[in-house]
Amino acid sequence: MTIPAYDPNNIFAKILRGEIPSHRVYEDAHVIAFMDVMPQADGHTLVVPKAASRGLLDADPAVLGPLFTAVQKVAGAVKTAFAADGLVITQFNEPAGGQTVFHLHVHVIPRYEGVPLRQHGRGMADPAVLAAHAEKVRAALPAPGTA
Ligand code: AMP
Repeated sequence: MTIPAYDPNNIFAKILRGEIPSHRVYEDAHVIAFMDVMPQADGHTLVVPKAASRGLLDADPAVLGPLFTAVQKVAGAVKTAFAADGLVITQFNEPAGGQTVFHLHVHVIPRYEGVPLRQHGRGMADPAVLAAHAEKVRAALPAPGTA
């Protein structure tokens, strides 16, 4: 599989540069995490490494450990904040794999027994609702320096 070059004008690169807003829940030296604007379930959060790569295969392996450490932290907070029965953690590569934004990211999505997910990348959420959901996730994260 040939991987196209990274495009620094993708929407997550713009969020990382602060050029467009996001409902941010977490940041450390390696990643940011913010609410997905088209959530497949309430609480759907994206964890995005600061280092540029299009997907998993062109990422610096050194990025992956800190990325998944943050995914674990955010996933725990999302599960608590939304009283989820479970979580689905996904990462898509290239259009054939379902990827639509070409900067590596990991989805953290709450799941509930017997409740189907909403469709991927469809249906923009109300910004006020996303802001409230982001606040719930932030409140469920450990205070910086404690975990
Ligand atoms: P993927 O298909 O894995 O590339 O998923 C990209 C995700 O980014 C989708 O779930 C979109 O709903 C989400 N998304 C697109 N634009 C934004 C944005 N500006 N802020 C937050 N999430 C976004």
